[in-house]
Amino acid sequence: MVITIVLRVRAFRTMYGSWSGAASARRLLMPARETEAIILKTFPLGEADRLVSFLGRSSGRLRGVAAGARLLKNRYGSTLEVLSHVQIWYVEKETRDLVRIQQAELLESFHKAQSDYGLSTGLAVISEVSELILPEHEVSEPMFRLILLAAREIERTGDWKLPVSYFAFWTVRLGGWLPRFDRCVACGTPFGSKPAGYDAHQSGLFCEKCRRSGMKLLHLEARNLAERFASERLDRIEFATSIEPGARELRGAGLTWIEHYLERRLMTRELLETT
Ligand SMILES: [Zn+2]
Repeated sequence: MVITIVLRVRAFRTMYGSWSGAASARRLLMPARETEAIILKTFPLGEADRLVSFLGRSSGRLRGVAAGARLLKNRYGSTLEVLSHVQIWYVEKETRDLVRIQQAELLESFHKAQSDYGLSTGLAVISEVSELILPEHEVSEPMFRLILLAAREIERTGDWKLPVSYFAFWTVRLGGWLPRFDRCVACGTPFGSKPAGYDAHQSGLFCEKCRRSGMKLLHLEARNLAERFASERLDRIEFATSIEPGARELRGAGLTWIEHYLERRLMTRELLETT
């Protein structure tokens, strides 16, 4: 009788050996959290794992480890592609910044955009900006919706130009760094139909008299498009060739203001201009 019990205990210890100890017991008790999320970026981690940065709708931006995600056969499939819209389950650890990702399920795929060089460059700009701008653990419903809307439109229309322009404009607006579009920031003169100037060294738009050499221009068409962006949803704006120059100028200004705020160059911006 005694012998049987000893054997049973041994068998139990063998089976659950790795779960012994106080730390493991705590981990077992910690419930998994679940959130709708957008995958922002992933990096290889060791031979088999991936480090994943994601924006959770209810958690804010988090970084976590997806164990085994680099193995040929893994449980994540295509859920960890850039800007994939997923449902994600993760466990928070007490002592580290990284969460442990348990599972991800695809809610919406952007396969066409992710597998096309030009379109994926557009997604990469959105991903880089979001990753740099969003503070960790801070919920941002407007940014969540903006990223999703822009990715959806790149996928749907097969064009990144208008969505990236809209994304850059709204990121600046939500960040609260959007300058006045109707008059000079230095002297207050209304621009009327004349172009306004900007550069990476200061925020604001400048009139002809206050403009410095080397400043880039934002013409009336681009400023009018900004007004449409402010009041209309991206999926209701049709991309006609007539708005392309304005969209390009506005995208340039938006990304420049983002760089000014971040105090660094965006790595993906150069790629965008070559596609
Ligand atoms: Zn002026």
